[in-house]
Amino acid sequence: MAKEIISSSKKLSKFPDIIQGILVGRLMFYNNDPREVVANRKRAFASLGIDLKKVVIQRQEHGNKTRVISGKDQGAGVFDPKAYLKGTDGMITKDKGVFLVVHTADCVPISFYDPKKKIVAIAHAGWKGTADKVGKKSVLKMKEVFNCDLKNIIAYIGPSIGPCCYKIENRDKKITKFKKAFPDCVHEKAKGIYLDLWKANKKQLLEAGVLERNIEESKICTCCSKLDLPSHYREGKKRNRSILSVIGRR
Ligand SMILES: [Zn+2]
Repeated sequence: MAKEIISSSKKLSKFPDIIQGILVGRLMFYNNDPREVVANRKRAFASLGIDLKKVVIQRQEHGNKTRVISGKDQGAGVFDPKAYLKGTDGMITKDKGVFLVVHTADCVPISFYDPKKKIVAIAHAGWKGTADKVGKKSVLKMKEVFNCDLKNIIAYIGPSIGPCCYKIENRDKKITKFKKAFPDCVHEKAKGIYLDLWKANKKQLLEAGVLERNIEESKICTCCSKLDLPSHYREGKKRNRSILSVIGRR
């Protein structure tokens, strides 16, 4: 059964006009019975006070495209795996009652809120999206489209694989791309090469102009946390649970 493991980010929970949180369980269609998934989603989102029909789920492409979402997108990807919102890894909305979701199992979910302009956003950043700066692109788009002041944006970097566990092979192609973008987030240790997605995501937000005091890092590693979180790295193809991060205005 899906249960809410972290009700919220401490910084984001100070704003009563939004609902945000992290859900864990059999909440994606992969390796699961679709009817069970919909029932699990209904229950899990209801635990946060969210009507499932108002949720928007993107397929996620491991890129850095972001899109402005509105009420007409509600329900995308919620009941039918063929109906995911396609072509994006980031979503932004000004509309009330539109709940944006990122699904992960090691990749980095980042939730954003500008309490002055009342704009919410969310991004999915795997190693590729991190190197392509989907987080930075998201906040810059908040500024471009909704005139958000970067100094007001609160960001929450959610549970994801930490630098403690994200070991890659020496010949892995991802090193070159990632190292080019974030040379100081690649650590060569005796046992192998480790990527620090947390630091790389925080760095690009600071680079964009988000204030350090407005960035919260969960620092919960999906691979080794005692919370027994879903981890693609640890579980491989048999994985059937996911982490769903959600944010939206009431
Ligand atoms: Zn770890």
